[in-house]
This record gives sequence, C-alpha cells and structure tokens, in this order.
Amino acid sequence: MNINSAIVQGAKVLEDNFIKNPFLEAEILMSNVIKKDRIYILLNSKKYLGSENLNFFQKLIKKRSCGKPIAYLINKKFFWNSEFIVSNDTLIPRPDTELIVEKVLKLTEHKNKLNILEIGIGSGCIILSILKERKNFYGTGIDISKSCLNISKLNAIKLKVSSNLKLFKSNVDKFTLGKYDLIISNPPYIKKSKIKYLEKDVAKFEPELALDGGLDGLSEIRKVIKKSSELIKKNGKFILEIGFDQKNRVISLLKKEGFYINSINKDFANNDRCIVCTKI
Ligand code: GLN
Repeated sequence: MNINSAIVQGAKVLEDNFIKNPFLEAEILMSNVIKKDRIYILLNSKKYLGSENLNFFQKLIKKRSCGKPIAYLINKKFFWNSEFIVSNDTLIPRPDTELIVEKVLKLTEHKNKLNILEIGIGSGCIILSILKERKNFYGTGIDISKSCLNISKLNAIKLKVSSNLKLFKSNVDKFTLGKYDLIISNPPYIKKSKIKYLEKDVAKFEPELALDGGLDGLSEIRKVIKKSSELIKKNGKFILEIGFDQKNRVISLLKKEGFYINSINKDFANNDRCIVCTKI
C-alpha cells in the first residue's frame, strides 16, 4: 500500500469514530511513523509503505479511534516556542497555560538572575519555556511524580537549559529548600466528582494526579499557596493557574497568606485562568 492510500484508509477509520479533523490527524500519525515531515508526505504520497510501518500506523489509528489524545501517541506537544516530550504520566500542555509564560516574561523583561520555583513541574513546559527565554535565570522544579521529573529533565536537555534547572521529587508540603523571586504553578484543580465529566480524551487518558483537586477542587491550590507564601521572597511574584469558577475563593486564600492581587487574567475562552500576585 502506498503512503497516501494508508492515510486515506486511516482517516476513514478516524472519521467513523467521530474524530475531528480525521485527515489531518492521520497525516500527523503517518509523519510520526515514517519520521518525515508533512511536506515529505505530500511530495511522496505514492511511495510504497513497508508492512512494519503500515502495521504501526494502523495500530496508532486504532488507539486514536478509542480517544487516546494524539499527543500521547506521538509523545510530543508544541507549547509556547518549543516542542515538548510528553508521556501518559504528564498532563498535555494546554494553550491556556501559555498565559503563565506570557505574564512571567512581561514581569521579568529587565530582570537578571532570578530564582524561579515551579510547584508541580509535569512535563516542564512552563518553567522551561521561561528558562529558554531568560538564559540567566535559575529554575527549580518539584513534582511528586518521578516519571514527570524524568520527562522534564529530558525536555530541559532538549531545550538546552538543563544546566539552569534543579529537580526534586517532593510533595508540596515537604519541600522547604530555598527562597524564590518568582513562584509558578498549574496545580490539579478539578473537583474530584467532576473529573468524569471532562472531555472523554481528558477524563480517560490524562493523569488523574495532575487533575484531581480533591472534594472542592482547591485542596492542592491551598497547599501550593501556603507553601509559596513560605518560600517566596518579600515582593516576589506568584503566578497561579486556576479553574474557571475559583477566582473569588482563591483570592481570599491568597490575601490570607499575605499576597496582594495584581491581576486576574482570562484564557482564550474568556474564563478567569491565571492570577498574578505579589507577596507583601
Ligand atoms: N486545564 C485542565 C483541564 O482543562 C486542568 C489542569 C489542571 O487541573 N491543572 O482539564
């Protein structure tokens, strides 16, 4: 079978399983299987596809048909300015989370040698995007998941910022190392009982550890705010991603821990998504 016929056949399977953009996704999967870009595919669509590649491609099509996110099938996702390695154990980087990067870069335009802490580093997409643009900053990332730490280490090497990054396997409560100019976090903030109602791709395939915010959705956010208030320098900035309906409750938690609210920023869907505040 040639490359094009395999793609057409694969796209049909995806379409029958209600996957949006079936042709595009089939092309992306093919490009991953034969390790060539989509331009190559366009120019070589009549080329014969060996049986090993065809089998692998069809296996990926089957998995995608069951709803597995494409990022997990090709093990990568583009975020901010770079492509990141992701695995089943990391949350897939969301475009909405780029807000944190944007805010940090704006706040630190003329700053040097800042110490940044990320609580719950996951794939590393947030802090590594910042370190890539602020070459003289020092990053520290913590996570309770060893496999997330492994992935963020690989991403740090890929982005050539690993010499500026320290990683620790730690629970947020237990971490007591250092004082930071800036703390960032996208903690799990979905109410436990709501996880099953998220989009199927998310609920079924993304790590619960990165989503589950406990009974009221705020149990991890509470810990992150408390810890940040202890580890942040006076006048340090704290940038936190929150759920669409958590603004008021989170603001009151922040104020209680001595933070001044600078701004609440909306995501692409016009939901409150990211809070910037200062330790006073
Ligand atoms: N924003 C993610 C979602 O929509 C949740 C991420 C999180 O809990 N930090 O599923």
